[in-house]
Amino acid sequence: MSKSIGIDLGTTNSVGAIKKVHTEVLKNAEGDLITPSCVTFKKKKLPFSKPEFVVGKHAVEWMKQDPKNTIMSVKRLMGRNFQDKEIQEIKGTRRLNYEIARHSKGTENSLGIILGGKEFTPEEISSKILGKIRKDSEAVLKDEVEYAVITVPAYFNDKQKHATRTAAALAGLKVRRLLPEPTAAAISFGVDAVRGDEAQTVFIFDFGGGTFDLSVLTISGGQFLEVGKGGDMWLGGEDIDRMLAEYVLGETAKEYNIENITEFIENQDGKRKNRFIGELKDKVEQAKIRLSTEHEAYIEILGVLKDSDKDTVDVDVEVTREQFDEIIAPTVEKTVALTQKMLESIHFTPDLIDKILLVGGSSRIPSVIAALKKEFGDEKVMVHERPMLAIAEGAAILSHRLSDTYECPKCGNDAAQSDTVCNNCRFDLEAYTIEQGVLDIVHSAAHDYYIRLGNDEMHLLVEKNTPLPCEASEVFKLVHSEQKLVHLKFYNIVNEQEESIGDLWLGIEANEKIKKEDRENEPLRMEITLRIDESNLIEVSAALKEHPDIQISKTLSRGKADEKLFLSLEETIVEANRKKYKEYIMLDLTCRSLSAIKDINKVVSEETGEVDEKVYEKASLKTDKARKMASEGRSGRSTIYYAQAALEDFGPAIPPKNKAAIRKNMKRLEDMDENGSYDENVEAIEDLNDMLNRKLGVVNVLMEIQKAGDFCMENNPSKAPKFYQTVENILKAYKKDDSDKAASLIKEIMPEAYGVVKEYEARSTMIYKDITK
Ligand code: AMP
Repeated sequence: MSKSIGIDLGTTNSVGAIKKVHTEVLKNAEGDLITPSCVTFKKKKLPFSKPEFVVGKHAVEWMKQDPKNTIMSVKRLMGRNFQDKEIQEIKGTRRLNYEIARHSKGTENSLGIILGGKEFTPEEISSKILGKIRKDSEAVLKDEVEYAVITVPAYFNDKQKHATRTAAALAGLKVRRLLPEPTAAAISFGVDAVRGDEAQTVFIFDFGGGTFDLSVLTISGGQFLEVGKGGDMWLGGEDIDRMLAEYVLGETAKEYNIENITEFIENQDGKRKNRFIGELKDKVEQAKIRLSTEHEAYIEILGVLKDSDKDTVDVDVEVTREQFDEIIAPTVEKTVALTQKMLESIHFTPDLIDKILLVGGSSRIPSVIAALKKEFGDEKVMVHERPMLAIAEGAAILSHRLSDTYECPKCGNDAAQSDTVCNNCRFDLEAYTIEQGVLDIVHSAAHDYYIRLGNDEMHLLVEKNTPLPCEASEVFKLVHSEQKLVHLKFYNIVNEQEESIGDLWLGIEANEKIKKEDRENEPLRMEITLRIDESNLIEVSAALKEHPDIQISKTLSRGKADEKLFLSLEETIVEANRKKYKEYIMLDLTCRSLSAIKDINKVVSEETGEVDEKVYEKASLKTDKARKMASEGRSGRSTIYYAQAALEDFGPAIPPKNKAAIRKNMKRLEDMDENGSYDENVEAIEDLNDMLNRKLGVVNVLMEIQKAGDFCMENNPSKAPKFYQTVENILKAYKKDDSDKAASLIKEIMPEAYGVVKEYEARSTMIYKDITK
């Protein structure tokens, strides 16, 4: 039976766990419970061998040699825009040794990580960590791991959650649920803390290696509701290590009378410097951890640093618990201040909190625990026995709960979630589940969800705090009766700012089913549905009310290759409408857009989020070509329509040989419109035009007169019969071989016909793509 595990995909460390009878943290291949969230792209020594990814402890070791190709804290980049303030701030700072850049396949905003000269997405890097957890867990469990509950910070937005899902899919894992980390922590504290019918309000204080997260949850009857969240994404054990390292260096500088110790280290030769920095980092962290239980710790780094006379400068510093508390006091005060701020933001006072649950490695620090006890009262503060494993354990418990089948805790036989007793040993499974305390978790929409209407109005679809899963469905109208493109834009409002969550495009092609009458008076109607599941996965769908089979549905992804292409298409259409291109150019652009939309909708796989390179290239060629053709005033479609009309209306007047030649060129142009490069496409347009000029002869003249009649029919119908009648008279004259009569009729009508055609051909039109209520 394939297994379902829980994974804490952390900024600094990741952990996998499974629940059978008890919760078990799964050791990795190195024999450790914790896997550093570190990935390196390691070149092999052998020539022609491919570089390989190394994840975890060995990647951390490798970082000392090749920091540029080693990634720590990729979680900070997940679902981020290249332009984000945080990303621009960390770019080039000490926090980021590797190179990040705009991703070549995404929008202007997408982010790429450069390793070994190759470009990767944060999702791809993160998938390597999940892949290792999966593989190592399979080795321990001696079975396939197919499903996982993966934890994410409570503050993750939809885009960050989507990126996490993509990473899981790339690692071959099916996500049962994305679980907010604080909820996972609360679950892992176990039944005593969270069971019972009376509602409890718990405060989760998660102080880890690189982040500090705060959450308030109300828990009742196994249901968990998030009430508020806060913290600081950039505060953690690493900051404490840095403060302690500065103290140690300061003491060493005093002892040896070194004026500027940073410069002194900087001036050490390369190897010594790297070794010293690495050792300092390790020893300081070890001392910090020791100081959580001991009253003093020593930091010794002997024989590494040398002064200008080649004499050794040894680091040998004792730190007592009191000194340590003093050193880190500003950080501890900051955590308390952020705690107070968070409670204020949801209008809570400490007395309204029933329990404070401490998780994350840094919550072991005694002065942190003491500060919280002072704030909330001794009895309320609970420190997790395994603070660094708590979140993975909580995820494992939920993963077990959500599995379709699981092992009976008594006999180990397979049991289905719907079974109340074990079919094999009659163990009371229902009572056991209730005793476990976790029935289900109620999540709610983190923001308001809107759709943008044609007049730029925002229309609310789902309100913040709506319990998840939820679905909102509404009927809208297209803005024009002839509309062929529909562009839907979905938004959140986050901190009073609009944040796009994705677009949906649907093409309505000329279709026999869409009868002319449907469109004659009223624009078509469209039913739009927005669904949000328990993990905040958003799916949108749109279907024509009158023709539900003309529909599209999609999981929203952002900053991906498809979005870049849609953006380009949108710009082309906006530009065409602004510059008021001629009608026949707009017709061509509409057809090209319809064809491109079909391809773009297939660029990103719904299942894995992966980009299909072939489809991407094809769709990209189409969008580029659409822009260039429109701006240069070329149209393949109207040339084809012209040829089609000539063959249909004046077929008998065209010799069969010419007809066949025209058909052949039409077919080629159709093919080039769809598949050809820009140059091939232009050549096919010119060839068909040229052929029509040469092979249609007098039919071209008849077409002009007919066109004049058609145009008049639309706007000035009383004038139309004159043109249609003349066409018939000319044809009659030809049939009677009276070419003089035909010539004189043509001569008489042409100036007027040309005038009408010219006037109407100069007309412009709009490409409509919006909706309205
Ligand atoms: P986490 O992000 O929860 O995995 O926590 C990792 C952080 O906790 C690292 O900065 C560790 O140095 C720190 N840490 C782990 N154990 C202890 C401890 N006993 N006392 C203080 N800090 C600790």
